[in-house]
Amino acid sequence: MKSEKHSRLVMKFGGTSVGSASAISQAAEIVLAQAIAWPEMVVVVSAMSGVTDDLVRGSLSAAAGDTQTYQGIAASLTEKHTRVVEDLLAPAGELRDQVLHFIDRCLAEFSTLCHSVCVLGELTPRAQDTITSIGERINARIFAALLEQHGAESQAVDASEVIVTDDNFQNASPLAIPTRERAAARLGKLLEQRVIPVVTGFIGATTGGLITTLGRGGSDYSAAILGDCLDADEVWIWTDVDGVMTADPRVVPNAQVIPVLSYSEVGELAYFGAKVLHPRTIRPVIDRGIPLWVKNTFNPGIPGTRIERQSKEVTGTVKAVTAIKGLSMVTVEGRGMMGVPGIAARTFGAVASQGASVLMISQASSEQSICFVVPSETVQGVIRAIEKEMAVELARQDIDRVWAMDDMVIVTAVGAGMRGTPGVAARLFGALGGKGINVIAIAQGASECGVSMVLEARDAAEALRQIHDQVIMNNK
Ligand code: ASP
Ligand code: MG
Repeated sequence: MKSEKHSRLVMKFGGTSVGSASAISQAAEIVLAQAIAWPEMVVVVSAMSGVTDDLVRGSLSAAAGDTQTYQGIAASLTEKHTRVVEDLLAPAGELRDQVLHFIDRCLAEFSTLCHSVCVLGELTPRAQDTITSIGERINARIFAALLEQHGAESQAVDASEVIVTDDNFQNASPLAIPTRERAAARLGKLLEQRVIPVVTGFIGATTGGLITTLGRGGSDYSAAILGDCLDADEVWIWTDVDGVMTADPRVVPNAQVIPVLSYSEVGELAYFGAKVLHPRTIRPVIDRGIPLWVKNTFNPGIPGTRIERQSKEVTGTVKAVTAIKGLSMVTVEGRGMMGVPGIAARTFGAVASQGASVLMISQASSEQSICFVVPSETVQGVIRAIEKEMAVELARQDIDRVWAMDDMVIVTAVGAGMRGTPGVAARLFGALGGKGINVIAIAQGASECGVSMVLEARDAAEALRQIHDQVIMNNK
C-alpha cells in the first residue's frame, strides 16, 4: 500500500534547536542532509527559545498599563532576530533584506498590538494569541531563507493558513476535516514541487481566520497534526536531549536513552513528571500508527527514541523511573467508615471543590482509611473542605481524623511489560528495601503500565538510583 510512498517526513525543531544562529544553522544542515532520503519534507519551527515568554511578558505588562516594558521587548527582540539574520544570511542579498524587513514589520505590529492592549487596559485571549504568534512567524521566515540560501527550494508558511481550529484561544484544538483539506491544498502542492515548506509551530486560525494558539509548547502538536493530515510516514521531533531517558540524568548520572516507547508509556511518564512529549500533542500521529521520533539537534548521529502506538512489550521490563515532588498525602481515617457507601465520593467531591488534582489514591480493603496524594500547595484547603463535608461523621467519630503528611514524593516505575508480572513489584520493593527506604503507599498507575510509590522526599534521589540500577539496568 505504501510501497513507493515511503517518502514523506515532518520534522519539528523546538525552541532551543532554533534558539541561536548556530543552532538554526545546525538545524538547517539536518534538514538538508535528509533531503535525499525524504524527497517530501515539511519543517515545523518553534520561536527562538525565550521569545514566546518575552511576548507574553510584554502583553501582560501592557495590560497592566505599563508602556515601557513592551517597547523594550520590541527593541530587544528586533535586535536579537536581526543579529541572527546577519549571522546567517549573506550581506546585501535580497533574502537578507526581505527577512530583516519582515522582522521589523512583525515587531512593529507587536508594539501596536501592545499599545492597543494598554489603551484598553484589557488583554483578551484572542489578542494574546495574535501577539504570541509573532515568534514562530519570524523564525519560519528565517529558517526558510536559510534553506533557500543553501540552494534548497523552500517557503515559509503561516500555519494560520493550514491548521484550522476551534475558537478556544490559547489552547485551541484542531478541526480535522478542514485542516486535512488545507494541508493538502497548501502544503501538498509545495511537496509535489519538491519545495520544503517551513511551517510555524504553535499557531492555527479559526474558520473565520482569527489567529489561535495550541497552548504553550504547542509546536509538537503542530507537527503531529500535520503528520496526520499529510499522511506522513514519520514525524521527527528535534530537541536538545538525546531522547526520552530512563531517568533524570541530573539525579541518575548513568541514565540512558530509551530506544522504543509505547504511547501509554509516554502518557504515564508525562503524567508522573518526566519532561517528555505531552500525550495529547502526539495523539494525532500515534492513533494513525505513524511512528514518531525524539532526536537531539546537537547530537544528530544517534537515533533517539522511537514512539509507537504499541511497542513490543518485553515481559517484566521496566523502562523508566521518574519522580514528582512537592506533594502531600492526605489520610481520612476512622473505623466508622467501614461499609458506608458514599464516603469516597464525598471526600473526592470536597477535593474537587478546591480545584486540587489527585495524583494517586489508595484504600486498603479494611476500608478504615482512604489516602490520596495532592500537590502540597492545595493541602490546607483540601483538609478544610473535607472536614466541612464530613462534619457530622467527625462529630459522631465515624471518622476519627483527616490529616496530611507533607514533603512526599511519588516515584513511578514505568513499562508496559510489567503489566501482570508480579516479579516486578518484588524487585522494585527489594531495591528500596535493600537501602532501608520506607514505602508509605503504593498504587498501580492508571494505564496499567506503571507502579507508583509514595516516599518521603529525602529518600527520592536514592530510590530513583536504586530502581534505575537494580531494576531498569538489570532487566531480564
Ligand atoms: N513557542 C511556543 C512556546 O514557547 C511553542 C513551542 O515552543 O512549542 O510555548
Ligand atoms: Mg518553546
